[in-house]
Parts: sequence; structure tokens; C-alpha cells
Amino acid sequence: MFPCVTAFVAIALQGPKVEFDKTQLDKLARFTRESERLAKDKYTSIADVLGISKEGLTDVKIIIDFNYDGVAATSGKVIRVSAKYAAGHPDDTGCVYHELCHAAQAYPRYDPVWLVEGIADYARWFVYEPESKRPVVKKSKANARASYRTTGAFLDWVLRTKDKEIVHQMNKALHDDVYKEELWKEYTGSTLDELAEQWKATLSD
Ligand SMILES: [Zn+2]
Repeated sequence: MFPCVTAFVAIALQGPKVEFDKTQLDKLARFTRESERLAKDKYTSIADVLGISKEGLTDVKIIIDFNYDGVAATSGKVIRVSAKYAAGHPDDTGCVYHELCHAAQAYPRYDPVWLVEGIADYARWFVYEPESKRPVVKKSKANARASYRTTGAFLDWVLRTKDKEIVHQMNKALHDDVYKEELWKEYTGSTLDELAEQWKATLSD
């Protein structure tokens, strides 16, 4: 008959409801846990991808950084991952693999950028991530020097069809600071531009 009175009494007895939504913290915890596992399980295997000795790998420190506004970045042995990005993309631990690759690369110079990033993304997309997630490059966008996943796909093609040591060789040249474009012809028999055109011819839109 007087349901409002009953409800009022119940609220008065229980007090106001206080609720915590820890969804973002839980996602951040998931990203951190999976990243830690990934780093422990996979970091040393990156030496095989680059063709270097495991003993030569630098120590790394991964910081989930609340003050970093990018996605992730590596400077020397320190990898920073944006806490905001991590909470928003809890399953994107592949970005940590990419950064671990930079730590392993340990080049004296970040040049040429497209190749440094291309090698890190080759490692990520063609060695670490499952085949189903591999980038598909369209013919119209196929620029070997486009960096990141596009260059990664180009490196994968060169490795499969021309020279299975190409990533090892380019990694060594960059590490020893002796990279020059002529190396592509020396290692594969074709210039970088010729390779890029041949690769493009295999793609479709
Ligand atoms: Zn990178």
C-alpha cells in the first residue's frame, strides 16, 4: 500500500551506495602481467631474429608510465609504455615486443628510420604475432621505405624470395654503423628500388 515508505526505510538503513569501477585498473593490470610474461619468454629469442648472440642483449627496464603521452618508446635500455594506452589496449602486448626489438637492436644511430622501424615491425608481425594478424599491404600503398609494418612486409618478402639472411645482414650493418643502400645489391643482386618494384608486382589492391 505504501511502497515508497518501505523503500525509504531501506535506503535510510543502508546509507548511500558507493561503487568502485576498477575496469581500467584491471585492464592495466592485464597488460602489465602479459607484457611481463612476454618479455621474460621472448626477449632472448629476438637475438635469433636479428642474428646476434643472446649474450649481447642489453638489460631492459619496462616502465608503465603515467606521464608519457605517446604509445611506447625505447631509449637505450628503458622502454616506456603509456599507462593510458595500456589500459585502453590491454591486448596489444605486441607493441612491447616491438620495443624489446629496439632494445636488442641497440644501434648507434636511429638512421635510416624506415629500416630501423621496419626491422622491429618485421620481428613483431612476421615472427611474434599470429599469421592471421599479419598486415596485408596493398599494391597502391607498397612503398618499401614506408617504415613500420609496410617495410616489415617488404623485408619478409626479400627474406622469403631473395636472401634469407637479409634481416641479419641489415641488422649487422646498422649495428656496426656501416649501412648504405648499396648493400641491398651486394646481398641480393638487386638494388633497393629494383627489389621494391619486384615486391610491388607481387601485390594486389
Ligand atoms: Zn619503433
